Amino acid sequence: MSKAETAPNPAEFTATDQCVMCGLCLPHCPTYAQTGNEADSPRGRISLIQALARGELPADQTLTRHLDGCLSCRACEDVCPSGVPYGRLIDNARAELRRRAPRRRLDDAWRQVFAGRRMLRRVLYGSIRLARFSGLWPLAGRLGIRRLPLLGRLHGLADRLPVARLSFGAAGADAKPAVYLFTGCASEIFDRETLQASERLLQMLGYRVLTPPTQSCCGALHQHAGEREAARGLARRNLTAFAEDIPVLVTSSACAATLREYDSLLGDTGERFGRRVHEIGEFLAAAPWPESLAPAALDRRAAVHVPCSQRRVLHAPDVAFALLRRIPQLELAPLPGNDRCCGAAGSYMIEHPKMADALAASKVGAAAELAPDILVTTNIGCAMHLARALAEDGQTLEIVHPVTLLVRQLAGTRARA
Ligand code: SF4
Ligand code: SF4
Repeated sequence: MSKAETAPNPAEFTATDQCVMCGLCLPHCPTYAQTGNEADSPRGRISLIQALARGELPADQTLTRHLDGCLSCRACEDVCPSGVPYGRLIDNARAELRRRAPRRRLDDAWRQVFAGRRMLRRVLYGSIRLARFSGLWPLAGRLGIRRLPLLGRLHGLADRLPVARLSFGAAGADAKPAVYLFTGCASEIFDRETLQASERLLQMLGYRVLTPPTQSCCGALHQHAGEREAARGLARRNLTAFAEDIPVLVTSSACAATLREYDSLLGDTGERFGRRVHEIGEFLAAAPWPESLAPAALDRRAAVHVPCSQRRVLHAPDVAFALLRRIPQLELAPLPGNDRCCGAAGSYMIEHPKMADALAASKVGAAAELAPDILVTTNIGCAMHLARALAEDGQTLEIVHPVTLLVRQLAGTRARA
């Protein structure tokens, strides 16, 4: 019997039976709101997954389109009265689709650049810097590169790519206790300022920061694309890199959500690891804060975008507000429509640009109405996606991580360690 003909593992899909088809999740689903098609709703997708698991439907293009069209935003899971673990089900279904109908290698090649070896990320970072400072980058913008799905999004964010050295090793050598800092694939290229700011702030609070050079991408891109073995391989590398029993701090909420749920890839070992994972804002909000650390006032208005991973998986939607309230005079307002996915959703913004742009449009409209000076978000994927959408709309709004903003206001304050 060929690999494609083997039956799916029924244990991976039994949770679909928990769905009572009540439809309470439907008004919360962003893709259903856009298309009005039941097959693009959580209830419809659960029915499709059941049919896939029973072998009643072929793993064809139509089925793949409806299941891959899901953002994995988990808004449906959050409101489901029956506790259907939708996030796990859709990951299992995509793995099953890939098992029966493997994708072309070319479709997945770009994922290797981001999530693969650090050397490839260094080459990408160096190439973008070179293009930017040689004038090629602005020229590409004028020629309309932003209309392209992948390059357009890279261009949108790299406009503000900070020139920053990223160091791996230990900072604050004499300080105790120690924490790990997770760098992540996209943050390592596009948000070095936040990684540096996090290291600096942790040192100021008296922590020894360990940044293991052998760490890898969290595996979210692979996991949500159904490439479970690749995701598992990355998870194993991280378990080895972060071997000491100390907190693992993560600046990007989507990476934190994936690392927190390593039990789905590695069982009990992954669950124990997940308990050590903290989104950096959550950790800092609970950490003792010396009175000597007083951020300078900032007379600006910041809109706070709350990523789905921060709200639906980490269940900590208020961390950015808690951190930024430390800055005197900074006015904070939630970005209207925060309960809806912005359309970034990892590689979704590249693979489903039409839907991703339609969802970003409501965020762009909300930003135009609120007219903030700064947009704050805890997820690098959302930052990239929104940067491009706002630029397309002619809004020159800076997008920044809350830790970065906080540390900018602490400039000149001496580290405690
Ligand atoms: S997933 Fe939950 S909320 Fe949605 S139809 Fe099923 S039982 Fe109802
Ligand atoms: S995860 Fe999000 S996009 Fe997918 S079915 Fe649920 S609500 Fe809809």
